[in-house]
Amino acid sequence: MDYQKNQLITLTIEDIGVEGEGIGKVDGFTFFVKDAVVGDVIQARVMKTKKNYGYARLEQILEPSGDRTEPKCPYHRQCGGCQIQAISYEKQLEFKEKKIRGNLMRIGGFSAEQVDAWMEPIVGMEDPWHYRNKAQYPVGCDKEGNIITGFYAGRTHSIIANTECLLGAPENKEILESILAYMRRNRVSAYDETTGKGLVRHILIRKGFTSKEFMVCLVINAPKKISGAYLPNQQDLIQALTKLQGMTSISVSINREQTNVIMGYEVHTIWGSDTISDVIHVRDMQKEGYPFTGTELTFHISPLSFYQVNPVQTEKLYSLALEYAGLTGKETVWDLYCGIGTISLFLAGSAKKVCGVEIIPQAIDDARANAARNGIENAEFYVGKAEEVLPEFYAKQENQGSDMLHPDVIVVDPPRKGCDEACLDTMLKMQPERIVYVSCDSATLARDLKILCEGGYEIQKVRGVDQFGMTVHVETCVLITRDKKGQNS
Ligand code: SAH
Repeated sequence: MDYQKNQLITLTIEDIGVEGEGIGKVDGFTFFVKDAVVGDVIQARVMKTKKNYGYARLEQILEPSGDRTEPKCPYHRQCGGCQIQAISYEKQLEFKEKKIRGNLMRIGGFSAEQVDAWMEPIVGMEDPWHYRNKAQYPVGCDKEGNIITGFYAGRTHSIIANTECLLGAPENKEILESILAYMRRNRVSAYDETTGKGLVRHILIRKGFTSKEFMVCLVINAPKKISGAYLPNQQDLIQALTKLQGMTSISVSINREQTNVIMGYEVHTIWGSDTISDVIHVRDMQKEGYPFTGTELTFHISPLSFYQVNPVQTEKLYSLALEYAGLTGKETVWDLYCGIGTISLFLAGSAKKVCGVEIIPQAIDDARANAARNGIENAEFYVGKAEEVLPEFYAKQENQGSDMLHPDVIVVDPPRKGCDEACLDTMLKMQPERIVYVSCDSATLARDLKILCEGGYEIQKVRGVDQFGMTVHVETCVLITRDKKGQNS
């Protein structure tokens, strides 16, 4: 069947793709339609066709699906940050569970019966809005030359003015408008990507959800201080921002490179403290509403540190990892891909010893400082690649016959590409009782689980945790044991 570009087609959406797009067929030919929802009957315009499938643009909803909800953000189609805002939250959770299930079957090669036996109900958000504790807004000019901030229109670098992203903290709006007003008052220029000229590139805002502390960092294209300050009439900005409740840290980050990387390496605090703090609680994941257990940890966050963006769901994810680890106080635990040591420190309270491994040296500095801050003395951190540190350690252990730091439990939380095979191989050789796999990409998770299961391990539990409502992303936590005896419940 031949379809012409711009041709109008009518189709019923029957499925949802991994990026949240609607999938439907016209005379057996498959079309992917962004923003269309399963159950919609739509009119769409053909954009591009390949041999077996094509892409079309949603033009009109002829009959809306029952899964639809009115999107709250007027910009959701342009922005592309919230791929599934038009789907009710309940159905979003269903989609995410199905995505995990589908990947385990298709990529992991597990049967539907196996997967059903493992899967625990997904942990959803109580309020899927305003959950992000971090936002980075580009600054630029509109066609009339007015200074604006907002977000990039999907897959482009043109800024759409909007200071009210519904995933960010409600306070961001006031902070952004106060910065824009300062820039206008003092004729501070916005950075222009095409010429590399202009001063302010991005605004980073972070909020400590528990502490209610705010951090603002202006990313600027400035070579050096301008008569003792980094910004023109810097005091005016500080005065405006410190009027806002909770303002704790104001800084600038120098980025003079013509690159897409947002933050520069250099950060200078211009007012207040260098960091904000936040508290993460341990929760009981077996009880309704996941109540706090009374254990909590405090973290200090600087403009450059990595920190999970959804603090409420992060508590649940870490608590689940802790539950799956099944610790009794006697275990040595390795936490691979540990970042600033958040999971490591969660585990430390219930383990004999925790060893964290992370590739970024600054993150390990943060991890050590966080351990000290929380009075944790049984956590050690190593800088390096998990796929190198673990095999080296294993080789040493084999040579010396020492089992001092032999892992009883290994926790991994790799980036989207999953674990390196050398890392998985060594894990299998080391034979821990239990492996807890925390994953932000269920496709690579499924691939790695297949390897672990072929190596003699068994999956016991799989549970999704929704950290990113309105988007297609989902975290998954899996308990894997060496044999049935290793099961902790
Ligand atoms: N568990 C942490 C971080 C998870 S993100 C948390 O919840 O906050 C994944 C981390 O893996 C990042 O900090 C990244 O820097 C690190 N990383 C990426 N590749 C790695 C590798 N090959 N070895 C060790 N760490 C790696």
